[in-house]
Amino acid sequence: MSVLDTKNLSPRLLSFITALLVATANALITLFFHPVWYMPLIVAAFTFITTYWIYYYTLQRFIYRKIKLIYKFIYQTKATRKEEFFYNNILPQKSIQEVSEDVEKWALQRKNEIDILRDNEQFRKEFLMNLAHELRTPIFSIQGYVDTLLGGALDDPAVNSKFLSNASKSIDRLVRLVDDLGQISKLESGKIPIIQESFIIQELVKDVYEEFLLMARERNIQLLFKKGTERPLQVYADKQKIKQVLVNLIENALKYGNEGGSITTGCYEMDDRHIYLEISDDGPGIGEEHLARIFERFYRADRSRSRTIGGTGLGLAIVKHIVEAHNQTVNVRSKPGVGSSFGFTLELWSGDKGTKES
Ligand code: ADP
Repeated sequence: MSVLDTKNLSPRLLSFITALLVATANALITLFFHPVWYMPLIVAAFTFITTYWIYYYTLQRFIYRKIKLIYKFIYQTKATRKEEFFYNNILPQKSIQEVSEDVEKWALQRKNEIDILRDNEQFRKEFLMNLAHELRTPIFSIQGYVDTLLGGALDDPAVNSKFLSNASKSIDRLVRLVDDLGQISKLESGKIPIIQESFIIQELVKDVYEEFLLMARERNIQLLFKKGTERPLQVYADKQKIKQVLVNLIENALKYGNEGGSITTGCYEMDDRHIYLEISDDGPGIGEEHLARIFERFYRADRSRSRTIGGTGLGLAIVKHIVEAHNQTVNVRSKPGVGSSFGFTLELWSGDKGTKES
């Protein structure tokens, strides 16, 4: 960098160079009119000192006051002692180029913040649109049945109890949706703590299998453990929340799986700190184009099928939240016509932790 690189001039350097130029010019003029050796030196010294200070003072007062204002604005806070020190001592040393870089950095930061706000706004709009859509179907259905009943069907024994039971199903669906929404918003706001304890993961899977025995029998679906993965694995996690994960995944496998098929859970020791649990079905599978978005709220691979089955579209989003709250990962593998496998990792119990809340 050359000294005269105008981009990198600091006020001190700028004043110094200007004073030097003016002093040299004055010295040359003096030499011309008073060819005595000490006169140009005196004039040069005097001009240098006065020009330097006048120039420096002016720069400070008019330019750096403005720049200081810019800094005060971009920091948006009332100056702390540290900032006052910065304004008085560090700022005057900064070159115009450095000031410009700081402002550019600030502008970029602001742009990023605006981008995030815009994305959040878009996300919020989409969420509200989806929610309105989800609420509309059961509410309109309830409204339809109630209006028909009030319009005279109440006295028709052939349809009245059927209409009431259909309205009741739609109410159940609304209740499930509200429950899931409540759970997801609590998980997102971090209001539900993760209370870790040690337990045998296969026993928890067995408990959930038992809760779904009736549904599995109705659909003639077998609930199995992957051969060779029966050895009990002790994990360290929030048992109730992991149960919720298993419920959501096994319920999905039962809902979407083919009648007469099977669901298999495999529990694998990945390394000496983690296990991998995978629930596989031999159902219709999910197209590759949906896999990346399947854990998003209200995302459905097969809209019509999912609606008739009555899901809220929030089950997998809840699964992802719970697993990630444990600092673990969830994934899906699927192929249309072959089946789907949903898996997640969990921490292995290492024996020295006790019950921990996080
Ligand atoms: P839903 O309440 O609609 O089941 P989820 O979040 O649990 O919502 O699942 C999202 C979508 O993923 C479902 O609508 C369905 O299309 C697809 N899906 C989930 N699990 C399976 C599965 N085991 N087999 C096929 N499709 C599945």
